[in-house]
Amino acid sequence: PPPPPGSTLTGVAASAGVAAGAAHQLGDGPTKPPPDRPAGATEDELARLQQGLAQVRTALVAERDQLAARAGTRDAEILGAHLALLDDEALLDPARSAIAAGATAERASFDAAQQVAAVYRGLPEPLLAERAVDVLEVGARLVAAITGTAAVAAAPSGVVIADELTPAQAARLEPERVLAIASARGSVTAHAAIIARSLGIPAVVGLGRQALAIADGTTVLVDGDAGRVVVAPSEQLVGEAVSRRERRRQRAAVALARTHIDATLASGERIEVMANIGGLEDAARAVELGAEGVGLLRTEFMFLERPELPGEDEQAATLLEIARVLDGRPLIVRTLDAGADKPLPGLPMPPEANPFLGVRGVRVGLAQPELLRTQLRATLRSAAAHPVKLMVPMVATLAEFVTVRRLFEEARAELAVTVPVELGLTLEVPAAAVMADRFATTVDFFSLGTNDLTQYTLAAERGNARLAALAAPPQPAVLRLVKLIVDGAATAADRRCWVGVCGEMAGDIPSAVLLAGLGVTELSMAPGLIPELKQALRDVSLRDAQAAAAAALEADDADTARQLALDLL
Ligand code: PEP
Ligand code: MG
Repeated sequence: PPPPPGSTLTGVAASAGVAAGAAHQLGDGPTKPPPDRPAGATEDELARLQQGLAQVRTALVAERDQLAARAGTRDAEILGAHLALLDDEALLDPARSAIAAGATAERASFDAAQQVAAVYRGLPEPLLAERAVDVLEVGARLVAAITGTAAVAAAPSGVVIADELTPAQAARLEPERVLAIASARGSVTAHAAIIARSLGIPAVVGLGRQALAIADGTTVLVDGDAGRVVVAPSEQLVGEAVSRRERRRQRAAVALARTHIDATLASGERIEVMANIGGLEDAARAVELGAEGVGLLRTEFMFLERPELPGEDEQAATLLEIARVLDGRPLIVRTLDAGADKPLPGLPMPPEANPFLGVRGVRVGLAQPELLRTQLRATLRSAAAHPVKLMVPMVATLAEFVTVRRLFEEARAELAVTVPVELGLTLEVPAAAVMADRFATTVDFFSLGTNDLTQYTLAAERGNARLAALAAPPQPAVLRLVKLIVDGAATAADRRCWVGVCGEMAGDIPSAVLLAGLGVTELSMAPGLIPELKQALRDVSLRDAQAAAAAALEADDADTARQLALDLL
């Protein structure tokens, strides 16, 4: 039964903001077969398939480019994956065979997509299992193109409700029409949530199946700050939401206008606000949106589609181009973080039972030192002319870091680099957090990878929809580790070891306030989040942030910790 008017569903805040509007259930989408019709001659049906493919390809290319402009290249890559499916023989071969056996082009496409999706669904690896949704979506678009029905159902508007929004569905939402997103499942670090944040659409995920019982057209209020959805809210609540939304819009405009000014707390202390990027295009967008530099270049994103890893010269050239776009702003290059959820075609690895606990990050580089050396050299080559720093992901022990430091100093000597180049850790393994004071004697900085640090601290796989609440920041357990790290960094009195954060927590405003209160001085995030984050920090004094952080360390849960920060905003 639909939830009664006035009832509140509780979920997880996935993208900030508030909005009220008519519910629009996305439904299961592509599960209904196309209507029957007698098949034409084999060549005619094959030609229709071909035409359908071409039509979907054109549409997808346009959507991908639009999305790249709206949300950035990394998000747009999801539609790139859909494009690749249009050339995938695993899908096309069974479709053509079915046509040869007398099926219509649309029925053959539909059945092929269902078959391939079923295979993906049966795979034990969740990321591959998720591909099933992509295949079904591409199949449905193909059927629609062949039968001449609307390519995609009328663009959803109002409050979009789904069981779990696929990344591609999220990517296609038009921020002008969609007021908010509510989903029964989903998690904060899932790609769909990341996209909602970069599009600026408020979202609450993990609401449970009750959300799917809300009737289309019912007014729904989505509070993406508190993680709540109110069904058929009172007029007063809607009124409040509308004015909160309007205030937020005005704030966003002010924030954007001031984004090229440094972020200083109300009490005057400076917080460096940097961008996380995956390649050259993102760098330009980051600068435009007010990034003071790049706090995390995920080098593996540049190699995702490559059959072979690029050599030293090519890597050096790419880094130089990025550094040039940054025009004197600092650039932190992270060495390859392949493995787990980021397999690289150019770096085949044996299957593992627990890839997130397997050979990933620096463990790959230490097993194949040539790989690491190539990256160290490529980065050091740009160091003479640009302020680059290096950091190493997934370090768990001091010995691992010492080995990297040795390779780094060797490369520096070979290349005769004389300028200082900082070498730091992407601190994301709890063991390294606990040992931070020991690391502080030899690292130049800690950049906290809170996505993985949270995953390993809470023993909750990131992106596992059923564990969304465990991953939702700011977890007091993670905040306590941050404190341990900041205190550890301060023990090496003779050297400055600064602490930044480059996980998703950095761009979450309430979390950022607590992090600043704990002594974090650099925050690196998706470029789209920068203007408002800078603006929010300007209104908070260090003393208030410190008090909220101290209370948050004593909080029993993330909601309480979050509220302590929200009270300052
Ligand atoms: C992290 O783990 O928080 C991080 C910044 O790295 P990635 O998301 O690439 O694992
Ligand atoms: Mg990580």
